[in-house]
Amino acid sequence: MPELRKDVTTNTWVIIASERGKRPHDFTFRADERVPRACPFCPGHESETPPEVLALGRPQGADAPDTPGWEVRVIPNKFPALAHVALPDQEGGTAAELGAAAQSDPVKKESEAGGAGRAAPAMDVGAVDVGADRLYLHMPGVGAHEVIIESPQHDATVGSYTIHHLRLILQAVLARYQALSRVPGLRYFQAFKNFGRIAGASLEHAHSQLMVTPMIPPATEAMIIAGQQYFRAAGNCPLCDLVAEESRLKRRMVWQSQYFLMFCPYASRFPFETWIVPCLHQPYFGSLADHAEALTSLAEAVQYLLQRVEAEFGPVPYNITLHTAPWEPGHEAYLHWHLRFTPRLTIIAGFELGTGVYVNPTAPELAAEVLRNS
Ligand SMILES: [Zn+2]
Ligand SMILES: [Zn+2]
Repeated sequence: MPELRKDVTTNTWVIIASERGKRPHDFTFRADERVPRACPFCPGHESETPPEVLALGRPQGADAPDTPGWEVRVIPNKFPALAHVALPDQEGGTAAELGAAAQSDPVKKESEAGGAGRAAPAMDVGAVDVGADRLYLHMPGVGAHEVIIESPQHDATVGSYTIHHLRLILQAVLARYQALSRVPGLRYFQAFKNFGRIAGASLEHAHSQLMVTPMIPPATEAMIIAGQQYFRAAGNCPLCDLVAEESRLKRRMVWQSQYFLMFCPYASRFPFETWIVPCLHQPYFGSLADHAEALTSLAEAVQYLLQRVEAEFGPVPYNITLHTAPWEPGHEAYLHWHLRFTPRLTIIAGFELGTGVYVNPTAPELAAEVLRNS
C-alpha cells in the first residue's frame, strides 16, 4: 500500500508509491540535443561576459581579470532575475544608501513606487501593515544573481571533477557568500545548480548560480516554521536528530564521513533525492569557511554522489540546492545548513501543483541501496 510520509524539516507530505519500486533503468529520458554555438563562458571569450567578481586558479603573474587561465570564474548574470547591488567596499556608496533605504522604506504601495530605485527592504512583507493596498504587495527587485563558471572545460560534468577542483568551486561559492553577507538589506543566500534543460539550464557550459534575495523565500519560511515546531516538541534541531537516527538505522544512508552524512530522506519528494548534511549542528553555510578538512569532505561527498548518479543514469537532468539559515540572527537553534540533490526523473503534474504533495515512485530505502552499491 502507498504510504504518506511527512518531512519534519518542511512540514510537507509525500506519497511513497513504493509498490512501483522504480529503479534507475525504469526511468527513460533523452539526453539534451547539443546545439553547437559560440560560448561566452569558454576561455578566450571573457570580454563577452560582464566583468568577473571573482576568479580562482590563475597562475601568479598572469592574474589580470577577465583573461584566460582561471579554473573557476564568477560573473554577474547578464540577465539577472534580481538587480545587482554594489558591495560596501565598492565605489558609489550604494550599500550605504541601500541600508538607509532599508530602514525607512519596507514595502512600497503600488501608487508610490515610481522610481523606487535600488532600495532593499529589510522587513518581511508579512510584517508590514499595508493598509488598503494589501492585495498588491511588492518591493524593489534588488539582490544578487551571479554565475559560477565551474570549469574552463565546456562540457565538464560534476562527476568528472577532481577533489581539488570541487574544493575550488566550493571556495568560490563561500567567498561570494561572505562578500554578499556584508550588504545591508539582503537577507537570504541561495546557491544552486541546474543541469539539463528540464532542470532549467539554458546554457551548456558547466556552471552553477547564486541568488541573494531581499526577503525570506517561502521554502525557507517553511523550514523556519517546521524547525520551530520540532524544536518546541523535541528540544533539538530536526536535522541533528535526523543525522543521528539515519546513521544508526543505515537503511537510507548513502555515504558518511566524520563531517557529513549523505542519505535519501524518509519523505523524499523525488526518486533518488539525496541530502548531504553536516554531522555537527551548523546553521550557516559560512561555517564551512573555517574548516579546510570539512571542505575537502564535502567535495568528496559531492564527487561520490555525482559519479554514482552519472554511472547509473547518464546525463540525467538534476538540481542541487543549498539551504542555509538567513543571515539575520534568531534561527540558529533549529536551522541546519545542507545540500539537496534532486534528479528530475518524474514530471511535476496537476496533483503536485494543486496540492503541494508529491508522488514518489521510488522508496528512499531502495534509492539509498542503489546509490550505496553502484
Ligand atoms: Zn563553453
Ligand atoms: Zn542541527
